[in-house]
Amino acid sequence: MFDSPPLPHYFSPGHEAFRRSLRDFVDREIAPFVNAWDEAGSFPRSLYGRMAALGALGLGYPEALGGTEADVFHQFVVAEELARAGCGGLSASLTSHIIGLPPVLHWGSEALKRRVIPGVLRGEQISALAVTEPGGGSDVAALRTTAVRDGDHYVVNGEKTFITSGMRADWFTVAVRTEPGNKGPGGISALLIAGDSPGLERTELRKMGWWASDTAHLRFDQVRVPVSQLIGEENAGFKVFMNNFNSERLVMSASACAYAETCLREALDWARGRSTFGAPLSERQVIRHKLMDMYLQIEAARAMVYELAWRLREGQGLAHELVARTCLAKVMATRAMQLCADQAVQILGGMGFMRGTRSERIYREVKVMMIGGGSEEIMKDLAARQLGI
Ligand SMILES: Cc1cc2nc3c(=O)[nH]c(=O)nc-3n(C[C@H](O)[C@H](O)[C@H](O)COP(=O)(O)OP(=O)(O)OC[C@H]3O[C@@H](n4cnc5c(N)ncnc54)[C@H](O)[C@@H]3O)c2cc1C
Repeated sequence: MFDSPPLPHYFSPGHEAFRRSLRDFVDREIAPFVNAWDEAGSFPRSLYGRMAALGALGLGYPEALGGTEADVFHQFVVAEELARAGCGGLSASLTSHIIGLPPVLHWGSEALKRRVIPGVLRGEQISALAVTEPGGGSDVAALRTTAVRDGDHYVVNGEKTFITSGMRADWFTVAVRTEPGNKGPGGISALLIAGDSPGLERTELRKMGWWASDTAHLRFDQVRVPVSQLIGEENAGFKVFMNNFNSERLVMSASACAYAETCLREALDWARGRSTFGAPLSERQVIRHKLMDMYLQIEAARAMVYELAWRLREGQGLAHELVARTCLAKVMATRAMQLCADQAVQILGGMGFMRGTRSERIYREVKVMMIGGGSEEIMKDLAARQLGI
């Protein structure tokens, strides 16, 4: 199962070689330790450097900034191989630069790029994205954190919450309101804020899942940020964040399919090894149907995600339709993950309720995939609008 050769229009031999090196790395250096790291609520910071050495952090960044040529399927390989270890918190923090750094690459000044990107791609510094506020995450246009110009600095005041890598990040890409009179999307800017800025206070948050991830509440109290750290034009930040959400959602969708598959693999192994009433569970029709329901959902969701990624890579399709498909792919993939986590825990029985099984952890992690980066309700609403419905 799942061992068909990779489809060549999606994955080249180069992608597959990259996959093999990552799989080996995850098997040796991540999977044996994730239970302990998740229980401890953290993982070694040195892991960023080891990922960087594999070329897994700099995908799609220019070589001059320390990156390597790559497409979205390389990103999928990273998401999929990390998912095999079954620890979403680790994946989220270890790859938080994929949401924190693209605004700098696409809209930052050359000086800002050179100052920030190489250190993150070497795994020496950590990048995070800070958009969500205590007052709401879905309605980005209503954000309240202000950045008021004072000479060659902005003075930032406000709060951000649920920020992945928030405790350890060296750089935050922050959504701020630079035009106080404009309460809508037009008054928003993207600002890069150093983690060691005086007046920035971080508080760690306790969560249902993603324990290995350092999720934080941030408080900005009169934080002075050089104007040179503005990303893109002043008051033009809304489109920076919206574009960023699209790529985040796509990779999250591939990741959700992979977590679903991790559940299926664990459930299948268990069903083959566990006998009740004289026969392995895997021979019971009820269990076989559950396994096939899982398989079906994964295959359908993954087909949608891969096809969408292919369209985006090849520049095929209308922009608004691709945004709609991205939203719906996230809904489909995270639902597949939810079903698979649920069914896997059921098949594992009491063991599925025990800490240390992948399915138990993924079961606790599924809701953040359905909420974070754009909740299911918001995804459907946005998709409908993009499709003119
Ligand atoms: C573990 C974790 C990590 C995160 N990491 C980050 C991060 O790194 N950076 C960052 O910026 N954010 C991060 N987030 C925040 C995440 O993106 C938000 O939680 C999400 O966007 C939803 O925002 P909210 O929680 O404020 O919910 P709200 O926006 O308050 O919505 C609450 C509920 O109401 C629904 N709802 C809202 N509006 C409507 C509507 N118009 N119609 C119907 N239903 C609606 C939503 O779908 C949701 O179910 C993270 C969240 C979590 C839990």
